[in-house]
Amino acid sequence: MDYKETLNLPLTDFPMKANLAVKELEILHKWSEAGLYGKIRGARAGAKRFILHDGPPYANGNIHSGHALNKILKDIIVKVKTMSGYDAPYVPGWDCHGLPIEHQVDKLLGKAKRDMTPVQIREKCREYAEKYVGIQREEFIRLGVLGDWENPYLTMSHDYEVGTVKEFAKFVANGGLYRGFKPVHWCPSCRTALAEAEVEYADKTSPSVFVKFKLDGAATAQLGLPADSTSVVIWTTTPWTLPANLGVSVHPDFVYSAVKVAEDTLIVAEELLASCMKAFGAAEYSTVKTFKGTQFDRLHAIHPFLDKTSLMMVGTHVTLEQGTGLVHTAPGHGQEDYVIGQQYGLTVYNPVDENGKFIADTPHFAGLKVWDANLAVIELLKERGALLSKSDLTHSYPHCWRCRNPVIFRATAQWFISMDKNNLRAKALEAIRGARWLPAWGMDRILGMVENRPDWCLSRQRTWGVPIIAFYCEKCGETLLDETTAANVIAIMEKEGVDAWFSRDAKDLLPAGSKCGKCGGTDFVKGGDILDVWFDSGVSHAMVLENSKGLSWPADLYLEGSDQHRGWFHTSLLESVGTRGAAPYREALTHGYVVDGAGKKMSKSLGNVIAPQTIIDKYGAEIVRLWVASEDYREDIRLSTEILTRLTEAYRKIRNTVRFMLGNLNDFDPEKNTVALDKRDELDRVIMYKFQQLVDKVVEAYGRYDFHVFYHAVHNFCVTDLSAFYLDIIKDRVYTFPKTSLGRRSAQSTLHELTVGLLTLMAPVLSFTAEEAWGHLPGKAGKPGDSVHLATFPKATHVADSDSLIAEWDRIIEIRGEVTRTLETSRRDKLIGHSLDARITLKVSEANRALFEKRRDDLPFIFIVSQATLADGVSTATEVKVEKADGVKCERCWNYSQTVGESSEHPAVCSRCAGHLGGA
Ligand SMILES: [Zn+2]
Ligand SMILES: [Zn+2]
Ligand SMILES: [Zn+2]
Repeated sequence: MDYKETLNLPLTDFPMKANLAVKELEILHKWSEAGLYGKIRGARAGAKRFILHDGPPYANGNIHSGHALNKILKDIIVKVKTMSGYDAPYVPGWDCHGLPIEHQVDKLLGKAKRDMTPVQIREKCREYAEKYVGIQREEFIRLGVLGDWENPYLTMSHDYEVGTVKEFAKFVANGGLYRGFKPVHWCPSCRTALAEAEVEYADKTSPSVFVKFKLDGAATAQLGLPADSTSVVIWTTTPWTLPANLGVSVHPDFVYSAVKVAEDTLIVAEELLASCMKAFGAAEYSTVKTFKGTQFDRLHAIHPFLDKTSLMMVGTHVTLEQGTGLVHTAPGHGQEDYVIGQQYGLTVYNPVDENGKFIADTPHFAGLKVWDANLAVIELLKERGALLSKSDLTHSYPHCWRCRNPVIFRATAQWFISMDKNNLRAKALEAIRGARWLPAWGMDRILGMVENRPDWCLSRQRTWGVPIIAFYCEKCGETLLDETTAANVIAIMEKEGVDAWFSRDAKDLLPAGSKCGKCGGTDFVKGGDILDVWFDSGVSHAMVLENSKGLSWPADLYLEGSDQHRGWFHTSLLESVGTRGAAPYREALTHGYVVDGAGKKMSKSLGNVIAPQTIIDKYGAEIVRLWVASEDYREDIRLSTEILTRLTEAYRKIRNTVRFMLGNLNDFDPEKNTVALDKRDELDRVIMYKFQQLVDKVVEAYGRYDFHVFYHAVHNFCVTDLSAFYLDIIKDRVYTFPKTSLGRRSAQSTLHELTVGLLTLMAPVLSFTAEEAWGHLPGKAGKPGDSVHLATFPKATHVADSDSLIAEWDRIIEIRGEVTRTLETSRRDKLIGHSLDARITLKVSEANRALFEKRRDDLPFIFIVSQATLADGVSTATEVKVEKADGVKCERCWNYSQTVGESSEHPAVCSRCAGHLGGA
């Protein structure tokens, strides 16, 4: 007789080989057919809400690993909240306007663009954005991200665009908006102003020059220094801004030295004297006199090559970091220069046009590009004897985020939201302190940014965006933008969309009878500016949370990369505080960046980029998800082939553990066969208690958004607690005991609860595998229409004796480890083959003896040997004696026993098996 036939060997359709790349597509199809997202909404209707508001990615290009990290993290959180019982809807969105798309469309259109109207160009931009919304949507869905993909929010949709204009109009109404002429970051290649968040810092080599500004007669007389040969010295790395120089700033508290160098008397900060003299190549010099900064206030220097004076000003922005302690000040080309210039009543002079060229009436430099003007200025300084020193300096310099070219500071007429009118800055700081920032350093970071930021420059000189609905008097240039004109424009836009701004004339947009407040003129032109795209995405809290069914304002959580402290977190906060007086989120969580295996930034030029699509095709989206959960994402997170291979190995262990458990449930009906926990074998209860500890640990870590705890704890539980311990020991019971015996049903009840519980714990991260395995569960869970994503996490079921029982078993497990190692040695020494070939005699310490005495009969099963006896007496350390087992090997259970042959009906098996066969 083949006794193998009489064993209850595991049987399941859940395959060992995952074949994720194919299987995931089937599961996605199933989810989509079943309308899983809608079913979850239905199942959680009326529950407490948790709103994670999606920061919109830019609708351009395919997704990269950073997108995958971001969206999977969000998905894990939404699923964790859902399985914790919350109603946690997820409405994804896209940022659709702006320069990158307009650039691409410019390239595609080429010369054809010249003959197109703004509305036609905008139509092309819209098509372009739509295409990438479609592509990215499929890519995000492919990652297993569940959400309302049928109804995402798009910053270019009709309602969103008109809503953005309405939000803008709120700043018109509350007086926070103003038009100012002041320096902003300007990209001469893209010919537009740039927001702080659109500027990237990169190394650039610039000329570093020290320049003499002679003091005028009145100044030298007042300071008691020689007339005609006394100069203040400034240092700059942007010589091209010298034509716009209107002043020299000093610090009120610094000490300045007047130093005799050859024929000259030069003034620099005392503290920088040595470094300056070295830079000028002055070997010999002597200090004539010293002054406090305040003594220079309102004196005049003479511009080195233009026929004008330069005003000496006192400001605390001056530092001693480098240079001379005297700062060349051009209010048209720098934020701090602008601020101090305003205090001293200087004009905001900017001779540079939108292409970065000097305007026609600039002496010496008309028509020159600023970068070329650097050299021309240096030549002229040399000619005029004003150049003390020139060298090259490589420094961190702002570049355009889009075209990567260096940007300039240039004063232009722009629209701004004032940080100080309506106390926006103070209120924003308060709102930041009232929100929770994870990690905690995020709070200081954004506080620092808001404390120091200039007014928000809202206008961009482009076409693809939401228009700024300002009019200008044709006669005198005066601006017309108030609540009445805004309401009129908005009413038209509600019917025709924001394109009405581009297609209609000014008079068809203005209320009848509009008049210029200054000259009484009645003819107006429309402004050509659009809104900063960061304003578009900054209003998403209002557009999405306030206007969508099933959502609510404010959001519980915003989750983005840590660069968003100056991006979306920042602009959303300013917009929300400016219009609603409060932050749009309760909590802001950040993640780091994806780097390669060596910790280097991923870039095309380094060739170390791993695209999500590549990983999905080779390993499956599940491995991308596991990667996200395996590391502390608050830091930069590494991605490499080695890491993916290691994760695939870990995944396989988890999968096979689940498979083994499913295989042993093939004849189990949870409704009918479940044995109550207190009636189960001790070992079954022990593993359930240990599982309960795992559940507590993982659910608690999930709540803290600490996902790597899940990965390590679940992987460890599968490998150590299940595979190497519990499942190993119960094989005998589930394989050899009669199908319906209490012992086997007890183990199966435990396996069933473990599998259901483990799959729900896994579902937020291993969403595909948990779902696939769920379908192989016996009972209700496996039925069509059910999904693990509708389930909730296992509930805590603490039992009085659980802690003491676990403590006892932890000691048994420790000694079991020693026994297993000794058996392994015997196996290597060829004393035994399988551990069941052995008989062991165990001598343990006094403290442990009672543990084993109590379980004398179970010892062979615990150690998976044929015979195990407890030796008399005790020893300080555990002693294990291994011998060949007594008796004959049972053909059925492989245990050695002296009872083999006792049964006449089954002479090849032991008496235990014979009994089981009789009862089977
Ligand atoms: Zn640019
Ligand atoms: Zn006018
Ligand atoms: Zn047997």
